[in-house]
Amino acid sequence: MSQRRLRSEIRRSPTKFAAAAAFAIAVSFASVPMTAALAQSEAPAGQPGTPYPEMPEIAPIGVRMDRYLALPDFAKGPQLEASKGYRVQRLGDGLYMVTDNIYQSMFLVYDKGVVIVDAPPSYSAHMKQAIAEVTDRPITHLIYSHAHIDHIGGATDLGGKPIIIAQEETARLLARANDPKRPLPVITFKNRYTVKVGSRTLELSYHGAGHEPGNIFIWAPKQKVLMAVDLVFPGWMPWPRFGDAQDVPGYFEQVAEIDKIPFEILVGGHVNRVGTHADVRTQLEFMNDLKSATAAALRTTPVGVGMNDADKANPWALSDNYLDRVAIKCVNAVTPKWKSRLAGFDVFIWDQCYAMQQSLRID
Ligand SMILES: [Zn+2]
Repeated sequence: MSQRRLRSEIRRSPTKFAAAAAFAIAVSFASVPMTAALAQSEAPAGQPGTPYPEMPEIAPIGVRMDRYLALPDFAKGPQLEASKGYRVQRLGDGLYMVTDNIYQSMFLVYDKGVVIVDAPPSYSAHMKQAIAEVTDRPITHLIYSHAHIDHIGGATDLGGKPIIIAQEETARLLARANDPKRPLPVITFKNRYTVKVGSRTLELSYHGAGHEPGNIFIWAPKQKVLMAVDLVFPGWMPWPRFGDAQDVPGYFEQVAEIDKIPFEILVGGHVNRVGTHADVRTQLEFMNDLKSATAAALRTTPVGVGMNDADKANPWALSDNYLDRVAIKCVNAVTPKWKSRLAGFDVFIWDQCYAMQQSLRID
């Protein structure tokens, strides 16, 4: 958006743009009276509180949106019963998903017991009740998808002493964390491990660091269900920094790898419904668009434009100004196509653009 158009937008929609105008220097500007905020927006580029040229309409990090974009229907899933705080979804042949519509875990019932995959603390207090809806058999095994506390920190709420299984990097990270809420696994593996219980099977495999070292795929071959956590967010914009990916190129590879597995149901560990191949392909297409837009912006953005000359000897300031203007180009490039195709696009798009440029610059 040009400065001239930005100013006319400010007159039509003053609160949103007052906030955008204030973001550049200090949040304290956000509380100044409207007349003062408008005056700042009229100032030439480089003055305190002046947005960069071509500022997107989606509020940047640190600036409040008046109202986030409405959630599209394709991102919605089955409702929870408010009184329960979780729901159980049958995935076929003894396999079930438990979810609070933000986190997701699974359990597999076999002839002598129950195997659990992950125990998110957001609903782990209800997990025994959720299993009791289906069976009275005991919990015998617990598989950790990865070490993060938000997915397994409810392990001790399950009671008993299940046999805990995890990839060896997860064991290493848990030993370092020394967290009584995340007991150490007793069975670890490097590349592959098959959990065979009665007539039922889960195949665990490791595909390298993407989200986190030790994060595994859990494949139920008979049910054609794949659980792969914190990688694909069906219908939704990924959580910031590609789901907090520790290795962004590895993350991109793993999302592409998921699409090659012949699953019928994907349990992604997050949001309110299971996923399909169409969801994986949508996310891959978004990621590739973001990558191309960022690569182009990195190539075409000159360094130091619009800066105060006194700051040009400050390399961190030069970088900050450059990275901001690259992110602006990225947000502007992907918004028209994607703002209505991913739920929560507006919430995290700025963060994804910053994450993408950092990865492209150094990985
Ligand atoms: Zn995680």
